[in-house]
Amino acid sequence: MALLIQRPNGTEDVIPQNIHKWHTIEKVTREVAEKFGFKEIRIPTFENTNLFLRSVGETTDVVQKEMYTVMAKETKFTLRPEGTAGTIRATLQNGLLNEPMPQRLYYILPCFRHERPQAGRLREFHQFGVEMIGTQSPVADAEVISLAKNLLDRLELRNIALYINSIGCPACRAEYHKALKAFFEKDKDNLCDTCLSRLEKNPMRILDCKSPVCSDIAANAPLIIDYLCQECSDHFEKLKSYLDAMNIEYTVNPKIVRGLDYYTKTVFEFVTTDIGAQGTVCGGGRYDGLIEQLGGPKTPALGFAMGIERLILTMEKQGCAFIEPKKCDLYIAPMGENALLKTLTITHNLREEGFWTEYDVVGRSLKAQMKYADKIGALFTMVLGDNEINDNKAKLRNMSTGEEIEVTLDENFYFNFSNIAIAAMFKESLEF
Ligand code: ATP
Ligand code: MG
Repeated sequence: MALLIQRPNGTEDVIPQNIHKWHTIEKVTREVAEKFGFKEIRIPTFENTNLFLRSVGETTDVVQKEMYTVMAKETKFTLRPEGTAGTIRATLQNGLLNEPMPQRLYYILPCFRHERPQAGRLREFHQFGVEMIGTQSPVADAEVISLAKNLLDRLELRNIALYINSIGCPACRAEYHKALKAFFEKDKDNLCDTCLSRLEKNPMRILDCKSPVCSDIAANAPLIIDYLCQECSDHFEKLKSYLDAMNIEYTVNPKIVRGLDYYTKTVFEFVTTDIGAQGTVCGGGRYDGLIEQLGGPKTPALGFAMGIERLILTMEKQGCAFIEPKKCDLYIAPMGENALLKTLTITHNLREEGFWTEYDVVGRSLKAQMKYADKIGALFTMVLGDNEINDNKAKLRNMSTGEEIEVTLDENFYFNFSNIAIAAMFKESLEF
């Protein structure tokens, strides 16, 4: 088949055979987030471009190279590259800062970045993210990190290391920027063009450059952690002691700076080596200046985002269990018009009771119907012909054991079927 139009590069279809993996992540993330008191927020897929310029930052890769922007009737809009900026915009616009603090929000949403597609790096990808707004205490940092850890544990992921760092506040960064500038000044002629312009505006961004030459130069750059002010340093020490108390293992990695400008103080990443080069499954940190930057009152906040595709890749690689997809409870094969009428009544009533019930809607032979029932993994089948209708009795066939049980086709049928289906399910789970 020559397909006329293919899906865009760097996007994915999730077909029904794989949807249970997404349902697993969505179910478990919701449960964990809600256990920590977080409530879901939903925001638009696109925002005014200025929102991202002001928050993510004009010198970041995301803004300089990766945004999908359209000009619509003289206003520039951008498909969101991340969820924090829109969530904070929505928090301010809906007066959520007047609600009890801290606000605990979570979201599951698609993000868009024009990157080079590869395993674990897409142009449309999905994030599960949380934001905690209105607390500057380092215990909130520990709380948010422990939420991420709890989720990874619930999904039974292994080999995921937690790296933490502090990138300080504007006060400590002034000194640090001077030191960085002096350091990169020496290699000015070798920096890429983007980094050359970053040297004046935001030298820390050079540490995040993906070009091999720039990252080679950056390898020996001064570390922000050596320039922290007393407050930032105390904050970091406290966070470490809280993580210790929670028994959460971590490694301080002074090279983590994160790719978005809004971060202050704590930054962290959960990284696995099991899925190749794109192993960061979760990234986050504090952004104490962002709300003010977007026109709100000075309000400290923090959060993280996890890449759902990367979580699924890791779970597949590690053979983690997904929630089993549901199976058809009963497939009815009607032979003839009378049987079909009875089938329609039974199907309707069983569905009302919550059972997945199917019957032939194609006009197949009995043999072909049974083949279909087997293919969809039906737990029970029942053939209805004139004899069954006349006797008001039929046989329920357990497709995994081959066992047949006679049932009456009166109003007791539904109660009996429930009992038989539940008993079979119970037996199967005992056998495992
Ligand atoms: P990376 O270092 O991999 O480029 P990032 O620092 O750009 O990640 P964030 O902006 O912090 O990522 O986004 C949070 C999470 O979203 C990442 O840790 C990752 O799991 C996921 N993510 C980011 N970009 C992509 C992408 N293009 N495709 C798939 N997942 C992504
Ligand atoms: Mg990136």
